[in-house]
Amino acid sequence: MNIGFIGLGNMGGPMATNLAKGGHNVTGFDTAGVTIEGVSNASSAAEAATDQDVVITMLPNGKILRAVADQVVPAMKAGAVLLDCSTVDVESARDVATQAAAAGLLALDAPVSGGIGGATAGTLTFMVGGDDAGFKIASELFDIMGQKAVHCGPSGNGQAAKICNNMILGATMIVTCEAFALADKLGLDRQAMFDVVSTSSGYSWSMNAYCPAPGIGPQSPADNEYQPGFAAELMLKDLRLAQQAAVAADADTPLGQAAAELYAQFVEQEDGLGQDFSAMLPRLAARGHKG
Ligand code: NAD
Repeated sequence: MNIGFIGLGNMGGPMATNLAKGGHNVTGFDTAGVTIEGVSNASSAAEAATDQDVVITMLPNGKILRAVADQVVPAMKAGAVLLDCSTVDVESARDVATQAAAAGLLALDAPVSGGIGGATAGTLTFMVGGDDAGFKIASELFDIMGQKAVHCGPSGNGQAAKICNNMILGATMIVTCEAFALADKLGLDRQAMFDVVSTSSGYSWSMNAYCPAPGIGPQSPADNEYQPGFAAELMLKDLRLAQQAAVAADADTPLGQAAAELYAQFVEQEDGLGQDFSAMLPRLAARGHKG
């Protein structure tokens, strides 16, 4: 396929590399002037999008996605697929899809999980919103860039799935860290707590696969001085998107809200910026009951 790829950052760069290695003809554009081996360079987003079968965007946020969509939608040929893999607010995803459909394009929102490691290894999970025709065309590309693509329904539903998942993840990580910090103060050994909880009803991905306590459970960022991994500021971004959606949809999400507030404090007023999101454990362990 002929593919335009806009946003060649930490995630987009390796994704574009994998598509080129997979035999596709990829033309890239990034405002930072990034160049990628095996990917031709365009001088603008519109140029990267012209005459392509699929245009992929991997951008920081919804505002930038909307600005890029204004440039690429008029340049794309009818019937082509606009595939946004960024994590953005549900409203921007739905508005861009409407704009693309009005121009005779197929639009998909397909945020990912798996991080930079998954983007490099080609093992991302895609959560996809949009119609069947677009999903069928993009499936071949999902297979190269990832290990799983779930079609979640119409436009915006990929973003909805992503923020719901990460709201669970953020809240679960916090309470897992709280439990370790409480266990410390009760004289309960961390290893013993892990052995019980990881095989009891308190088990979770945060405990079992990404244990926030160093030296316990599987290898995780805790064993590497909390270098990300999944950075606390990216968790904050997703928790804020979840709260934005909750307000817009009038949904009651008190724990999601508390998680967003705690990560905001950690990242913006304390030393959380640049640390893994599981560094919530040393933060909590260093405090007393009143914070
Ligand atoms: P990044 O900042 O490394 O990359 C974004 C790129 O977009 C940058 O290279 C930037 O120069 C480029 N860009 C910005 N404005 C542009 C424009 N108008 N036109 C063209 N290029 C432009 O970010 P990233 O880590 O690659 O993340 C990209 C998206 O993926 C984000 O929405 C993020 O939330 C999501 N995501 C990231 C991770 C992760 O672990 N990094 C995991 C899952 C999802």
